[in-house]
Amino acid sequence: MTGTTRLEPEIALERLATFGVYQDPSAFAVDGVVPRVALAVSSPEAVAEVLAVCAAAELGVIPWGGGGQMGLGNVPERYDVALDLRGLSRIVQYEPADLTIAVQAGRTLADLEEALAANGQMLPIDAAEPERITVGGLVATGLGCPRRFGHGSLRDLIIGITVALPDGTLAKGGGIVVKNVSGYDMMRLHFGALGALGVIVQANFKVLPAPEAQRSVLLAFADAAAAAEAALTLRGSQLAPTALVVLAPPVVRQLDLGMTGWVLAARCEGPEAAVIRQADRLRESGGIAAREADVLDREQTIAFWRALQSLLDARPQRDRLRLRIGERPSRLSELAGHVVTELGSALAGLVLDYGSGLAYVTVSGTVDALRLAWDKLAEVGQHAVLLAAPAAVKVGTDVFGRHPDGIAVMRRLKETFDPDRVLNRGRFIAHL
Ligand SMILES: Cc1cc2nc3c(=O)[nH]c(=O)nc-3n(C[C@H](O)[C@H](O)[C@H](O)COP(=O)(O)OP(=O)(O)OC[C@H]3O[C@@H](n4cnc5c(N)ncnc54)[C@H](O)[C@@H]3O)c2cc1C
Repeated sequence: MTGTTRLEPEIALERLATFGVYQDPSAFAVDGVVPRVALAVSSPEAVAEVLAVCAAAELGVIPWGGGGQMGLGNVPERYDVALDLRGLSRIVQYEPADLTIAVQAGRTLADLEEALAANGQMLPIDAAEPERITVGGLVATGLGCPRRFGHGSLRDLIIGITVALPDGTLAKGGGIVVKNVSGYDMMRLHFGALGALGVIVQANFKVLPAPEAQRSVLLAFADAAAAAEAALTLRGSQLAPTALVVLAPPVVRQLDLGMTGWVLAARCEGPEAAVIRQADRLRESGGIAAREADVLDREQTIAFWRALQSLLDARPQRDRLRLRIGERPSRLSELAGHVVTELGSALAGLVLDYGSGLAYVTVSGTVDALRLAWDKLAEVGQHAVLLAAPAAVKVGTDVFGRHPDGIAVMRRLKETFDPDRVLNRGRFIAHL
C-alpha cells in the first residue's frame, strides 16, 4: 500500500481494524488529548500498513510503547490514532557468543533483561519502570542514564534498526553483525527522534557481559561546592566509576538515604576484588572533606540507581516540571548555584550528573510559577530540554528549547520521511 491515493478519514479509521485490535482510547491520552482510536498491532508489516492508511487520510499517529515517557514532547498538534506496539515483543535473534541481540520494539526492558541475564549479559540501562518501558520507547526518546559514563550510551550499542515508514515500507539499517556500519546514519537518525521520522519495529544491540560485582559509594558534604570539588577530583582520577552524580538535599531526603547535605554517589562495577578495592579508594580519595560515608552492596546499588532514575526521566508530571540542562562538568557547580538562586523554595529536586555533564531540575508550583521557571532556565547552560510538565505549561513553547544549528536538516528529513506529517505531529523539536 502507498500513501498516494487519498482516503476519507472515517473510512481509514474503519479500515485499521484489518491490521490490529482496537483498544480503549482513553488509556492513551497525551497531554490531555485523547485519540479517536487506539490500535494494538502485532507485526512489523501491520505497522507499515497502518501508517500508509493514515498517511492517505492525513491522520495523526502517535506510537506507544509502555507509555511511561509520554511527558516528553510538545503538545500534539493532531492525534487520531494511538499505535500500541506492545504486541511486537519477540526476540528475533540472540547470539550470546557474539554478544548480539535483535529484538522487536514493543518488548519491555524487563523481559529483555531477563533473557540477557540468563546468559550473564546486560544492556547498561537503569530504568525506573523496566517492566513497563519498551525497547522502541528507549530508542525513540534517546536514553541517557548516569551509567552512560562508564558504558557509553545506548546509541553506541545499537547495531541495527528496522523502521516502518508512512509510505508503507519497512526500512532497515545496519545488521546484527557488530562490524556492519552501513546503516549507521539510519540508527542515528531515529535515536532520540521521538518517532517523528518512522516507527521503530526492531532494534539490534551489541550487549555487554554483566559485571561480576557492583558497589556504590555515598559521600555526604555540607555544601554544594565541596561535593562538586570531590566529584571533579574523582572524575579526573585513575579511579573509574561507571556513574558519578551529586544529589541536592531535597533529593537526598526523597531517596531516604539517611544522610544530610549534598551527597556524591559513585558506582563501581567489575570483578569482585577490583570493585572492593575501587570502592575503598573512592571512599578514601573522595571522602576527605565528607561528613558521612556509606558503601552500598550489589542489591542496594541496583535499587539506589533505579530509584534515582525515577527522578530523572520524562514521566508526565501534574504540578511539577522536570527539565534537563546540558553543561560541561567543570561548570555544573556554577550552573547549580544559578538554579538554586533562581528557583528558591520552588526547587523540588536537583541531580548533577558529573559523568555526562547534565543537570536534572525538578520544580514544583502553580502553572504560572512553572512557566516562569522554564522561561528563566530555557536559556541557561548549553542546552535545556523540558522533559515533562503540565500541558498548560507546554503550550506556546518548544519543550526542546533553543533550536540547534542543524534544524534545517531536521526539517528536510521530516519532509522526506513523513511528508504528510503522520507521526507525532507537532511533538518533536520545532513542532515538526
Ligand atoms: C533526555 C532523556 C533522558 C532519559 N534518560 C533515561 C535514563 O537515564 N534511564 C531511563 O530508564 N530512561 C531514560 N529516559 C527515558 C527513556 O528513554 C524511557 O525509559 C523510554 O523512552 C520509555 O519507553 P516507553 O516504552 O514507556 O515509551 P513511551 O512513553 O511509550 O514512548 C515515548 C516516546 O517514544 C515514542 N515511541 C514509543 N515507541 C516507539 C517506537 N517503537 N517507534 C517510534 N517511536 C516510539 C512515542 O511516540 C513517545 O513519543 C530518558 C528520556 C529522555 C528524553
